Amino acid sequence: MNTSEYELEYFKSKGFTRKKCSKCGRYYWTLGSWETCGEPPCEEYTFIGNSPMNKSLTLHEMRETYLRFFEKHGHTRINRYPIVARWRDDVFFTQASIYDFQPWVIEGVVDPPANPLVISQTCVRFNDIDNVGKTGRHFTFFEMLAHHAFNKRNKEIYFKDRTVELCQEFFTSCLGVSPEKMRYIEEWWEGGGNSGPCLEVILDGVELATLVFMMYKDEPDGRKPLSMTVVDTGYGLERITWVSQGTSSAYEAVFGPVLQYLKEIAGISTDSRILEEYCKVAGMTNARTAADIKKIREMTAERIGISYGELIQCIRPLEDIYVICDHTRALAFMLNDGVVPSNVREGYFARLLVRRALRAMRDLGINIPLSEIVNKQIDFFSAVFTEMKENKEDILGLVDYEEEKYKEALARGRQLVSRITKSLGPGERISTEMLIELYDSHGLNPEIVQEFASLQVDIPDDFYIRVAARHEKPEVMREEDISTELPENLPETKLLYYEDPELLEFEATVIAKIDKGVILDRTAFYPEGGGQEWDTGTLNGMKVIRVLRKGNSVIHFLEGDFFQIGTKVKGIVDRKRRMQLMRHHTAAHLINGITRKLLGNHVWQAGAHKSEDFGRLDITHHQNLTREQISELEKEVNRIVLENLPVRIKMMSRAEAEKLYGFRLYQGGVVPGAIIRVVEVEGLDAEACGGLHCKNTGQVGLVRISKTKRIQDGVVRIEYSVGMSAVENVIRDKEIVWMLSEKLRTTPEQLISISDKILEDLKETKRAYENLRIAYNNNILSRLLENAAIIDNMKIVAYRVREFEDPVEISKALATRESVLSVIVSAEKNPRILVSCGENVGIDCRLILKEITAMAGGAGGGKKDFAQAGGLQEEMVDEVLRNVPEIVKRLMSGCA
Ligand SMILES: [Zn+2]
Ligand SMILES: [Zn+2]
Repeated sequence: MNTSEYELEYFKSKGFTRKKCSKCGRYYWTLGSWETCGEPPCEEYTFIGNSPMNKSLTLHEMRETYLRFFEKHGHTRINRYPIVARWRDDVFFTQASIYDFQPWVIEGVVDPPANPLVISQTCVRFNDIDNVGKTGRHFTFFEMLAHHAFNKRNKEIYFKDRTVELCQEFFTSCLGVSPEKMRYIEEWWEGGGNSGPCLEVILDGVELATLVFMMYKDEPDGRKPLSMTVVDTGYGLERITWVSQGTSSAYEAVFGPVLQYLKEIAGISTDSRILEEYCKVAGMTNARTAADIKKIREMTAERIGISYGELIQCIRPLEDIYVICDHTRALAFMLNDGVVPSNVREGYFARLLVRRALRAMRDLGINIPLSEIVNKQIDFFSAVFTEMKENKEDILGLVDYEEEKYKEALARGRQLVSRITKSLGPGERISTEMLIELYDSHGLNPEIVQEFASLQVDIPDDFYIRVAARHEKPEVMREEDISTELPENLPETKLLYYEDPELLEFEATVIAKIDKGVILDRTAFYPEGGGQEWDTGTLNGMKVIRVLRKGNSVIHFLEGDFFQIGTKVKGIVDRKRRMQLMRHHTAAHLINGITRKLLGNHVWQAGAHKSEDFGRLDITHHQNLTREQISELEKEVNRIVLENLPVRIKMMSRAEAEKLYGFRLYQGGVVPGAIIRVVEVEGLDAEACGGLHCKNTGQVGLVRISKTKRIQDGVVRIEYSVGMSAVENVIRDKEIVWMLSEKLRTTPEQLISISDKILEDLKETKRAYENLRIAYNNNILSRLLENAAIIDNMKIVAYRVREFEDPVEISKALATRESVLSVIVSAEKNPRILVSCGENVGIDCRLILKEITAMAGGAGGGKKDFAQAGGLQEEMVDEVLRNVPEIVKRLMSGCA
């Protein structure tokens, strides 16, 4: 660390001095006369019950105060970015305000939306989830206040001095903190291959902000200055609000009316002294593991002079309430920003929050729907984030659905867990892997497993962190890659299909060869991309079977031998296929826009494929569409087709497009570059898309939704066809109806009533048959009993059934009679034999079976009251039946 990085003009001119912390040895700058850097564990919180600020502000007031202060000082306020970071493929969620500007702004490809700017960015992080509710300051959802300046080489906005000056001014003149209290610790920041000096801003024992000066790029051969330096600040809205109120924990300061509501319905009152001490101790400990949490509790109990148990009893219910507050708040924002709870990707974390919150509610005995609490969060936050109002119903519906699914999982889980515990050997326990599997695949929280298992289960303290870590990074979706390297310095292929989508014949020159393909200087062949299949056609009459893009080149794979470099070729694109691909692609955009309107704003494209005969669009949605929804969708799509709306394609700057259409643009995932291609159907849908499209919706022609299905949790696949494919489907369906009508000798109109009647008749016939069968069986039974041999008051039945009689049924029926022993032989060749006896029969059926098989072959076994064998010798059957009374007599005398 180079100390000159921190020797700011501002510090010097204002009389700050550089000091060394007597405890941790770090350097810091201050106007006061302090011994230490002020950050725990060097010092503890001193603001609790004694705020250093001159006003006590709510969360909303503090946010507004901050944004206004920076606006007054030349910053432009910009709206928050969504929590789902759809403009990036390396992370699921926005975790800091700088994420909004990575990579395009930081790399200098795109201008920032304003410069300098100020923002309150909503973020979620799951790496501390087990500490939420326990430390007084950890959240999964939080808002990062930030002012940013992006300094290009020839145009500096401001850098270190002004940043620190603004920070000091904000806390002192705006919030009334006395200037000597502020301490700035020298630190070094590194992230994402960049680095630079940073200052941690400490007040009364708590870190309220970090001021990062991004200056360097770290490369294998050393640290190099960036062409653009960036002021990246992060102020914790929750913490600053907390300090201004001086409450016992950050939760008490920021959860507002929702916290009050929960305390009331759970009937909880708090000893604030215990909480205050607890939070002070927690603040001093870097709570990473549950062992840390235990230590915090022990220390707190000691400080206030109560037992560990008493402390737990006091804080446990509150911790549950804090967890519910935190999780419902995060849920409200995540669902608002388009996350559908599921077991994969972003949805996984939403489900985790739902289940942990429900678990905490169970512990507290709170018996209201989870959605009621989420509703309270929306009411609280939509005063500021007005977009939540519009999505409210949608969000609450998703929460209700999830809660229902959880209940189902619990019902199944009870059986599953009891099966597992039965399979455990003596002394064996349910392993951590098993617990994780039970949560991951069956949605059972470990606490629930413990309850169901009714035995001690070892739950690792960082259970949810471990589970969350399994799901951290998105899988990057890639199109097929061509392994062969392209020749170097190849000129970019000129893409004629973008210039003129109707151009289907062209002339070009072969400039390179690879595998079985050729690269041309220009082409009208659309390569596979964006879920749209490739064009086919011919080059000089030779068939083009596949077209792929690699880098800036388009590769045409040919059926036969290929051309020499320099050959002039004439290309012809197959028109029919191209038209169908375009229609399916445009239809995908229409269906996407319409399902969003029909089902709610949580609908996003999760995947798509457009081929010649059909299209497939996967959308984020929690349950399969109903028949009514499918019909509604089909009707709407065709209505838009008939309206013949223009499909506009525009090249736009990324910033302009995002401003105009929002992040809905990124339906197909991340698109690179400063200029993006926007495909818009006015009033319905606008997407960043590189595909080929119809000029207007009318060209799509008939659209048929052929089927929908839930392909994974939270994703529904819609299969459809357009144009002639759709027409063929209609004809096929009609033919099926005709054929059915013919078979049933009716008309299509009467098909339903006729089939209803047939089914009713069938039911009636089955009922009559069943009655008949019962009567027949009774008849046989009484006949068999009448003719039975009697030995010692015992009736002995020996009978070979006829083909249409059921040997098992007869054997079972006889077994229900008292004092009856039966030997029943089945009708087929080399038959089965069944020996059964009712109560009061003192003979073991297995012994009889043994005698018989000794005589007639076959093998089998059974229990005392029922035994059977198969494979009897056919020619011995009559003799066996005749001998049954003899065998019984012999066995009885043997027994006696
Ligand atoms: Zn220190
Ligand atoms: Zn598209």
